[in-house]
Amino acid sequence: DTPRKTTRIDDLPIRDELRGKSPYGAPQLDVPVRLNTNENPYPLPEALVDRIAERVREAARDLNRYPDRDAVELRTELARYLTRTAGHEVSLANVWAANGSNEVLQQLLQTFGGPGRTAIGFEPSYSMHALIARGTGTGWISGPRNEDFTIDVEAAEKAIAEHRPDVVFITSPNNPTGTAVDAGTVLALYDAAQAAGPSMVVVDEAYGEFSHHASLLPLIEGRPNMVLSRTMSKAFGAAGLRLGYLAADPAVVDAVQLVRLPYHLSSVTQATALAALEHTDTLLGYVAQLKDERDRIVTELRALGFDVTDSDANFVQFGRFADSHTAWQRILDRGVLVRDNGVPGWLRVSAGTPAENDAFLDAVRELKKEHD
Ligand code: PMP
Repeated sequence: DTPRKTTRIDDLPIRDELRGKSPYGAPQLDVPVRLNTNENPYPLPEALVDRIAERVREAARDLNRYPDRDAVELRTELARYLTRTAGHEVSLANVWAANGSNEVLQQLLQTFGGPGRTAIGFEPSYSMHALIARGTGTGWISGPRNEDFTIDVEAAEKAIAEHRPDVVFITSPNNPTGTAVDAGTVLALYDAAQAAGPSMVVVDEAYGEFSHHASLLPLIEGRPNMVLSRTMSKAFGAAGLRLGYLAADPAVVDAVQLVRLPYHLSSVTQATALAALEHTDTLLGYVAQLKDERDRIVTELRALGFDVTDSDANFVQFGRFADSHTAWQRILDRGVLVRDNGVPGWLRVSAGTPAENDAFLDAVRELKKEHD
């Protein structure tokens, strides 16, 4: 009996650019306090759980049929939500939805990126932008940031003029730093991108609801090459739902339909998202609590003597550590899972419930004591 040889990924005839790579993903460890993936710590309220069950039950009666391919009711409600909360009127024709904003971003790169094209992001930022670029065969350009993690406008304009990317990612608030981008910066980069391109500017506002500042949504007016991307994973406390959406000129919504898979949003997903949107006000109440907790974490970490990046998101970047991975492990040893995003010297903690945040603050207080 010769032992069966295990086939490894690299034994397969995979694309060269995927060789030796690992899949994206934070550790999913079973620890008491998990503050590593920017999830909303509050489970959905029981009344909403009941409403989801009701709407899914209705949808189940029609599961022999394909879902509404254009998700008209859901997009209409998402447009209503944005109009009410993001300071600019949009309608069904401006909004598109997919399975998480990751799929929205993938569809955008399938449409506006692809082989022979490039995308730029200002790093450190959400690492999936580069990975989705790779997955879609889009070349990736890493743009610069200032020391304080704000975007260096002049350097960014220069990079855009030099590389003439087809897609420009602007993440506001930025992950993992929490940094908000002001409208003036977005407009300057949009102008630079149109002069060099024209190219699409994708504003990733996954954490928009947690910001101290207004949404950048109004900037899409009169700018057909600008897209705003949003998600129900964070503010709506529905990471498990997988529902992301974009707002843009209706032409963009038409364009992404050239690449979307038919019936990509299941009837169950559409029904669940619609139920969640009925409970918007309750869910935004949790957002308000999380914003307060986020501000408390910033204040207390600074009082403990940590460096903390200003945060407009539901997480906080703190440091600086000579060895952030060791610090990450020491915090984990105390039962609290935070995130090492690979930004040298820094770690990121998501805002949890007050009790979880207390556990985190106790853990880092002890860490600090050991060092003093
Ligand atoms: N954009 C940013 C900046 C994110 O941090 C995340 C999730 N971590 C996403 C998009 C994707 O979220 P989802 O696919 O759950 O909508």
